[in-house]
Amino acid sequence: KAKQAGKNRAQFYAPHMQADALARIQLETDLRTALEQEQFVLHYQPIVAATSGRVVGAEALIRWNHPRRGMVAPGEFIEVAEDCGLIVPIGEWALREAVRQSCAWREAGQSPLRIAVNVSGVQFREPGLPEIVRTLLPEGEGRAQLMLEITESVLMDGSEEAESRMREIRDYGIAYALDDFGTGFSSLSYLKRFPVDVVKIDRSFVRDCPDDHSDASLVEAIINMAHSLDLSVTAEGVESVEQRDFLRDLGCDFLQGYLIGKPLSPLEFAAFARANAPFVQDAAFAG
Ligand code: C2E
Ligand code: MG
Ligand code: MG
Ligand code: MG
Repeated sequence: KAKQAGKNRAQFYAPHMQADALARIQLETDLRTALEQEQFVLHYQPIVAATSGRVVGAEALIRWNHPRRGMVAPGEFIEVAEDCGLIVPIGEWALREAVRQSCAWREAGQSPLRIAVNVSGVQFREPGLPEIVRTLLPEGEGRAQLMLEITESVLMDGSEEAESRMREIRDYGIAYALDDFGTGFSSLSYLKRFPVDVVKIDRSFVRDCPDDHSDASLVEAIINMAHSLDLSVTAEGVESVEQRDFLRDLGCDFLQGYLIGKPLSPLEFAAFARANAPFVQDAAFAG
């Protein structure tokens, strides 16, 4: 802003910039406290199969249960956490918590679901990540089915290293979703080269479907392209029955959005999963 306004305005903005800087430092301090006092929680947004409507997994979304401000959305603190490096321990906490919750659900008899955890590019570049993932995952039967959601930016920079890191982590049984697909700069060649399992169509493209023809054709193209590369597709931000039917008819594999379910507390999600679980008996009887 200050740049656009020219030299004379720089002074005008100075006091605000100072206030901003102070607010940032305060936020950083508060985030450290939040980590120490375990003020973060994960909510779980259901992901369902488009054709059956049965739950296949969930995306774990972090919230900050702030002692004064109440539930704070990630949009208000992730960026600052990335800038000051706190995203690394916060992201590690999220991974640990998702695995813990997933194991607890399985011990309670829930059929296994894949839990997707968002991993920031900053966190993905940390050399210690594969080791963290390895030690987090319990061996054997109870092994949590994890999926990491990364963005196109991870594939773009230092791609040699990103690729080998992805493969190393993948060897622990972890799947990858490419989040917010279409908003970055990735190309077909990236999707072919990196071991991605699922493409998540960003909700900005789903929002005006099916009425907006250019968005509708874009969504159709992404689905067909992903399928031709043997990738599955999840649509984000499904809010209406029209969107759901449109996406399902195009062959989109999985759906996520307020129409299906909002991000839920662990207790609420467990109830949702019970009500929308695949009929294991039916599957056994089929064929
Ligand atoms: P995302 O990974 O793209 O997550 C989807 C966001 O869209 C979530 O916002 C979710 O609540 C919202 N959403 C889902 N369905 C709908 C819908 O039908 N309509 C609308 N309008 N919104 C919908 P949320 O929870 O505020 O998270 C925002 C972003 O924060 C996430 O975007 C992700 O990039 C980041 N984030 C969340 N948790 C974590 C985390 O544990 N670690 C990191 N690094 N980032 C996280
Ligand atoms: Mg995500
Ligand atoms: Mg997303
Ligand atoms: Mg998104």
